[in-house]
Amino acid sequence: MSSLPALFVSHGAPTMAIEDTPTRRFLEGLGREFEKPKAIVAVSSHWSAATPVIGGAPTPKTLHDFHGFPQELYGIDYPAQGNLELAKRVQALLKDRGVEAALDSQRGLDHAVWTPLRLMYPSADIPVVPLAVLPGESGAFHYRMGEALRPLRDEGVLILASGGITHNLREYMIRQPDSEIASWAAAFSDWVLEQFTSRHDGALMEWETAPQARRNHPTPEHFLPFLVALGAATPNLPARCLHRAFGWGVLALDAYAFD
Ligand code: ZN
Repeated sequence: MSSLPALFVSHGAPTMAIEDTPTRRFLEGLGREFEKPKAIVAVSSHWSAATPVIGGAPTPKTLHDFHGFPQELYGIDYPAQGNLELAKRVQALLKDRGVEAALDSQRGLDHAVWTPLRLMYPSADIPVVPLAVLPGESGAFHYRMGEALRPLRDEGVLILASGGITHNLREYMIRQPDSEIASWAAAFSDWVLEQFTSRHDGALMEWETAPQARRNHPTPEHFLPFLVALGAATPNLPARCLHRAFGWGVLALDAYAFD
């Protein structure tokens, strides 16, 4: 089996699961772009923790961790199995890099995880191990977590990091799906693309000082998965942008592959 890429995807709003959009169609095709993984480590922007933690539930529940959306969304089930063995392997790899992580035997799959996975792998026949982000830790710390996970790519494990290239909920709430793209959101998504394609990993780790960073991410959790995926990339390899789009004029829906 050849090495799998690490992926970063933007999951957008929960309605991504039920509405036909270019990003949804992109995600539906994404699972066919490379060999089917044996298992998935899913880094989730909707699992924020104070200290590193990995999901070790044998059959993780589908979490409907959002409010005020169409009823149909609350009936969605993504019945993927967990994989305790892989969760322990992730724990050991992190420990080798000086990151002590706990196992959570109860954690389910939140919508940052199941929204893209349900489109990529609708049969839910690949075990999934969720991994939390740590809003109190730096970009460099998340990059190091990604470096620790890199060997898994040679073992048939897909590292899927799910968040958002831009994510300002207050600005999202006051707009419509087809609202004009805000210049400050475009500026940040362009900055990420520019840094990423030239592999300025150092600048990306210091992303909070980038133009308009705070306006696009009043809180950091939706960008942190990107840094885990970046850390899992082979150093110095030119990077690939797979998809670019905007929803509501302020949610960048870009996706990247980290070879
Ligand atoms: Zn989200």
